[in-house]
Amino acid sequence: MVFLILTQGWQKPPFFIIISTNIMYFPTIGLEIHVELKTKTKMFCGCLNNPDEKTPNLNICPICLAHPGTLPAINKKAVEAVLKLGLALGGNPSADNSKFDRKNYFYPDLPKGYQISQYDHPIISGGKLKNIRLRRIHLEEDTARLLHETYNMKHEAQKNVPSFKLQVSSLVDFNRAGLPLMELVTEPDIKSGKEAVEFAKELQLILRYLGISDADMEKGHMRIEANISISSGNQLGTKVEVKNLNSFRSVGDAIDYEIKRQEEVLEKGESIKHETRGWDEIHKKTKHQRAKEEAHDYRYFPEPDLPPFDLKKFNHKELKSSLPELPDQKRERFAKEFLLNPEQIEILISDQELSHYFEESASELFSGKSELEKTKSIQLLFNYLTSDLKGLINEKNITAAELKITPENFADLVVLIIKNEISSRTAKDVLKEMNETGLDPRQIIEKKGLSQISDKESIERTIKEVMAENPAAVSDYKGGKETALQFLIGKSMAKLKGRGNPEMVKNILKEFLI
Ligand code: ADP
Ligand code: ZN
Ligand code: MG
Repeated sequence: MVFLILTQGWQKPPFFIIISTNIMYFPTIGLEIHVELKTKTKMFCGCLNNPDEKTPNLNICPICLAHPGTLPAINKKAVEAVLKLGLALGGNPSADNSKFDRKNYFYPDLPKGYQISQYDHPIISGGKLKNIRLRRIHLEEDTARLLHETYNMKHEAQKNVPSFKLQVSSLVDFNRAGLPLMELVTEPDIKSGKEAVEFAKELQLILRYLGISDADMEKGHMRIEANISISSGNQLGTKVEVKNLNSFRSVGDAIDYEIKRQEEVLEKGESIKHETRGWDEIHKKTKHQRAKEEAHDYRYFPEPDLPPFDLKKFNHKELKSSLPELPDQKRERFAKEFLLNPEQIEILISDQELSHYFEESASELFSGKSELEKTKSIQLLFNYLTSDLKGLINEKNITAAELKITPENFADLVVLIIKNEISSRTAKDVLKEMNETGLDPRQIIEKKGLSQISDKESIERTIKEVMAENPAAVSDYKGGKETALQFLIGKSMAKLKGRGNPEMVKNILKEFLI
């Protein structure tokens, strides 16, 4: 912002002072997150709930196709899933009856001409996640999926004009119509793109731990809309809603972009328009989509085909005690039990199967160990798990549970490394072999003669031979050339077929070279 101050009076001639100040703007962000719930059947009919179904219009019936005269029925499991999430996040199940409402609008992916949603009696109110207050969690139904067919057009006459896409038709796939969709709305408590991403990632983790959704953003199981405003005072600014955020990265990028864009608009002395914008992933920009609709545009009214329902009919106590260990509880336990640092814990927490595998191996490794030995071995276990074993998992594109290596055998391998029975180089090969054959490491080492040579006599003998064969390197080292040592270690290891205990080889060599 630029102020022009005109001074006149004792100074002549009059002149201008230009002061440039930077007004501080505070960003405010609220999220609306839609999540497809992993129930067996759809929200209001008995059709199979498979959001990833590739064959179009396979899981459909007169109810989800909105044939006249059909009646919806509430999927109890979907209500239960929302209750579970609400209880896990400290929210309150609606004390009065909860109910469904019709949200009226037209779009080709909405066969009824309205969506069954919840307006003023959501299943859950309140709650908190990562210090962000939650406003509500409610249930609704998903829409169908539109497939726009395009045709690549080329100008025949003007060859130098680039080709363009002509939209020839749009198809509707109703497999997704009527899937149970949960919507979670936060209070505007988020302050940055980074914080929004952290919130959404933690929610994803909790949804997965609860087993109520796969919450895969790339597959559209979890869709995020961000409401963003900036303000320089106490009052919140006009918010802009951003859609089409298909990855965590785009959530962060779009929010950061939008904060900057709004700052520039205000700096120009213009005002922010209340609008819905879309994120353009290619150009990394938000673009105007439409003027923001208001609640009254939808003419919400109670769904006449579904009576209000009493949430007290669900046993909240039982539901609460059925909740699995949640990410935060696991973090705390892992820190206490395994003395890992927060970064290490995060690697395990984000992958339930890997953390389960880790726990199983650790308990095997711990049996009969002292505290000191536990601390040492757990670090080694963690390192091998997150580097070599994780490498195998990624390479084969499998999960930890699908590994042929049992956690017990994996712990055995770590013990062999600790005891210096195999070198870390050999361990890599043994691990590969373990995953091919499912054998335990000892069997593989014996079969292939891979055990590490820690026998002092044979190492000494080999080193003497190497020194005799390489007198130049010996005198180089004695003359102060440090690199000659590495050369002699290499020669000795080669002679020991890579199985010599590297620490011993180095120490004995140094001893002989004095
Ligand atoms: P609308 O009726 O326009 O959808 P809501 O009041 O339902 O608006 O809020 C939708 C989302 O926008 C919520 O997540 C809320 O926290 C957030 N929100 C509300 N006001 C603001 C604001 N001024 N700046 C940023 N986010 C906001
Ligand atoms: Zn159906
Ligand atoms: Mg709203």
